[in-house]
Amino acid sequence: MISIYIHIPFCIKKCAYCDFLSFPSNEDTIEKYIDCLCNEIEGSEATGEEVGTIFFGGGTPSILTVRQLNRVMDKIKERFNLNGNCEATLECNPGTVSEEKLSGFYKAGINRLSIGLQSANDNELKYLGRIHTFNQFLFTYNTARKVGFKNINIDLMSAVPGQTTDSFRDTLTSVVALNPEHLSVYSLIIEEGTRFYDIYGDSACRDSQFSDVVKLPDEDAERAMYYMTKEVLDRFGYHRYEISNYAKEGYECRHNKVYWTGGDYVSFGIGAASFYKGIRYNNISDVTEYMKIWDIEERLETEKNRPDFEWGICNKKTHVDIHELSINEKMEEYMFVGLRLVKGINITCFQKVFKKDIRDVYGKVIDRYIDMDLMKLNGEWLSLTEKGIDVSNVVLADFLL
Ligand code: SF4
Repeated sequence: MISIYIHIPFCIKKCAYCDFLSFPSNEDTIEKYIDCLCNEIEGSEATGEEVGTIFFGGGTPSILTVRQLNRVMDKIKERFNLNGNCEATLECNPGTVSEEKLSGFYKAGINRLSIGLQSANDNELKYLGRIHTFNQFLFTYNTARKVGFKNINIDLMSAVPGQTTDSFRDTLTSVVALNPEHLSVYSLIIEEGTRFYDIYGDSACRDSQFSDVVKLPDEDAERAMYYMTKEVLDRFGYHRYEISNYAKEGYECRHNKVYWTGGDYVSFGIGAASFYKGIRYNNISDVTEYMKIWDIEERLETEKNRPDFEWGICNKKTHVDIHELSINEKMEEYMFVGLRLVKGINITCFQKVFKKDIRDVYGKVIDRYIDMDLMKLNGEWLSLTEKGIDVSNVVLADFLL
């Protein structure tokens, strides 16, 4: 069974902190991109595989019309074998959907909505460069429920400019009051190439010599928000199952768990990464180049029916950084992604997958971190402790071989 990821790179406007492959565009380009996506799906080397999860990410996939989404879903159904219990998620930004659109998405087979809220405070939203208010989010959330969505994730962000521990607590409590099934809560990271990097990138600016700059929370406040997240969400029945992800019982995101457990996934659209049959590859990230390769509609009728026509030629031009993982890289990745899960990794599974005892590979580092109370071994499960999760970046780096 595999998973499918579809990248929709279009957004109404670039947020101040965003370094994702996303940009504003016009309707003609979006329509042409959908044509290309459908062609790329049609030519996939994974055609015929059973699909357990689909994820429309971005960008802002909810910018699509219902007709465009249906075209992509129909193409997936035509070329793959959808599991009866397939989880199909669509990322949705408030301010881009109406009741009619949400209802159309639901009828098209989307059964999980991931809504990007980030903050319930309108000033914070404005400073983040988001296109919506908290009220617009409430409309989106309530309408999604009304049209039938029973599985909703809300994305939140802590440590954003102007945020205090009190305003962050207000965000958490306003959101849990709505009773979503899943919450993703990430701390803001100032990434190079973003508007925020120009303002906060140089650490000197953190203490801001610019008096008119809205300040970032200091390290103590940032830590307090981090601990508060788990404490509040725990209290409201959300268990943390991954470093930044919380769910009600039975609502963990199955798609993300495929990434975190080393499963196969194929992705379509610019910049999307795939891992299929032990091979990792990325799609090119230039949208013009991508559309040149896959805009084959005009010549499709003649070319597709030619006996020597090969989709593989287009795939070859699209896929870059193709890399077959070595055994060491596979083990590193197994540890890296597995230890992000609160449950951790199963050491018997490690043995089965790699035909090696985990102690022969990682014995020293595991013992050291167990001594430091940063890791624990519970029966067959090796995981980070609460203290270890706090410094996960440092600990995980030690699993590089
Ligand atoms: S909506 Fe998401 S993808 Fe689009 S610019 Fe904002 S953060 Fe980036």
